[in-house]
Amino acid sequence: MQLIEKLSILADAAKYDASCASSGAPKRSSEGKAGLGSTDGMGICHSYTPDGRCVSLLKVLLTNFCLYDCQYCVNRRSSDVPRARFSPEEVVTLTLDFYRRNCVSGLFLSSGIIRSSDYTMEQLVRVAKLLREEHDFRGYIHLKTIPDADPALIAEAGRYADRLSVNIELPTEASLQTLAPEKQIVSIKQAMHTIYTGEQTVLNEPRAPRFAPAGQSTQMIVAPTTPTTAPSSMAPRRYTATSSYGACITRRSVPFPIARKACPWRHRR
Ligand code: SF4
Repeated sequence: MQLIEKLSILADAAKYDASCASSGAPKRSSEGKAGLGSTDGMGICHSYTPDGRCVSLLKVLLTNFCLYDCQYCVNRRSSDVPRARFSPEEVVTLTLDFYRRNCVSGLFLSSGIIRSSDYTMEQLVRVAKLLREEHDFRGYIHLKTIPDADPALIAEAGRYADRLSVNIELPTEASLQTLAPEKQIVSIKQAMHTIYTGEQTVLNEPRAPRFAPAGQSTQMIVAPTTPTTAPSSMAPRRYTATSSYGACITRRSVPFPIARKACPWRHRR
């Protein structure tokens, strides 16, 4: 399969991951018509760096093959979609090519689970390691971590990535068992805790190696197995947010000291 075909499949498969904070604006496509620019399609998303800058990222999966069968995911094992797989070297080549053409400032990389969680995580880490150590890449890297992976691999990912993310997926253990029975809340929280510990080590020991300076992010699906009527439907979400992030320092996308104050007359427009 040609690289461009793989890119088309694996960029499209990555567009459902929202933990890089993309816009929800309606789509406008100029494909096959007169027009300039487009908000349609996939492949490039935007994220915020720790100092508040908005950067463009090449957003792809390493592969959309997956051993798991999460019911909410287009890449689940039972899904009838075209499949592809990049090698780590191919992702590195694409990232550097797009970067040199000034199309992106970094990479958002996730993956379906192939062979095992550890093997998949190793492949993701290899991409970041090649970029940083062989190509001296200084751009932004966001890696999605695989929850069941060895904590040592997640810790290694934090040394190369600017941001790590772990999907909470669903607000309760029961909903996780219904829709993603191969996943366990305990291993998701373990992965989040490993990242949190790495961040705290850097805060408490200034000489510690760099670790995911832009922190960690997550996403959660709430609709399918929880009642939608407020306020009771908020309880599982609030509980999960409190139990998962209660001990963490949460931050806004644009730090307040950096955001400029608007003129008073603009408030009244
Ligand atoms: S493990 Fe990830 S890629 Fe695989 S089916 Fe579940 S959500 Fe989709």
